[in-house]
Amino acid sequence: MFLEGKTALITGSTSGIGLAIARALYIEGARIILNGFGDAEEIAGYQEELGGAPWINEDLTKTDGVEALMSQAGAVDILVNNAGMQHVAPIEEFPVDRWDKIIALNLSSAFHTARLAVPHMKRAGWGRIICTASAHSLTASPYKAAYVAAKHGIAGLVKTLGLELAQDNITANCISPGYVWTPLVESQIPDTMKSRGMTREEVMNDVLLTRQPTKKFVQVEEVAAMATFLCRDEAQNITGANYTIDGGWTAE
Ligand code: NAD
Repeated sequence: MFLEGKTALITGSTSGIGLAIARALYIEGARIILNGFGDAEEIAGYQEELGGAPWINEDLTKTDGVEALMSQAGAVDILVNNAGMQHVAPIEEFPVDRWDKIIALNLSSAFHTARLAVPHMKRAGWGRIICTASAHSLTASPYKAAYVAAKHGIAGLVKTLGLELAQDNITANCISPGYVWTPLVESQIPDTMKSRGMTREEVMNDVLLTRQPTKKFVQVEEVAAMATFLCRDEAQNITGANYTIDGGWTAE
């Protein structure tokens, strides 16, 4: 239990990848703080499973929401910026409010959590900042202007933090999955069907898995295992990096 005594805040941890990371860090002894939306009863079950983890239900598209999260969370040793959303639309129809919200959540919230978490990490002389980016931090797909821009941005933010905090025993890294089977992926299927005039099966095979040479969806546990590794002392020299788990997608 190498994370005993450490507190881990995982944004967007009421579902999908974030919940899997929370579970993996909990198994290693970390005290978990949950954040995200969802059914209160279901989340109460996760809180119980994760040793009575507090659930801080703040909206991270808003700066004051992130500030409220960080002040309620207190000292955080492991910060996992994972909350994210997607919208699929051609540029000329891309709703301006979706652009603003995606940039706010997928990019700006990570700036705000980091600026508020780093002072404690510096005092403690140890810290880990992990961002769930995406293969879309390295490559693009049509109709995902906001998501691709935000994810490229997060990779740049992480490089900057890696350099800035290099001598503080604080590392900052991205994990960049390809398609992981979570509610986020499932929910973009109808919009992609509409944008491209395709059936559900065509979207699954000809859009989603077409880019993933292994032809397999990544599992949330695989992303969580990488996050856990990045918290280990053996990973102390890994910083400013962007680790893909994309079945070979970005190797092409
Ligand atoms: P998900 O939809 O299952 O989970 C998203 C989480 O973010 C949920 O807990 C949700 O409640 C939370 N959230 C949404 N809006 C929020 C807000 N305004 N404030 C606070 N929390 C909010 O999605 P997921 O697939 O687990 O995605 C997690 C991260 O992984 C995202 O950043 C996503 O971009 C990234 N990612 C996902 C995939 C994939 O294929 N699923 C691939 C690459 C990257």
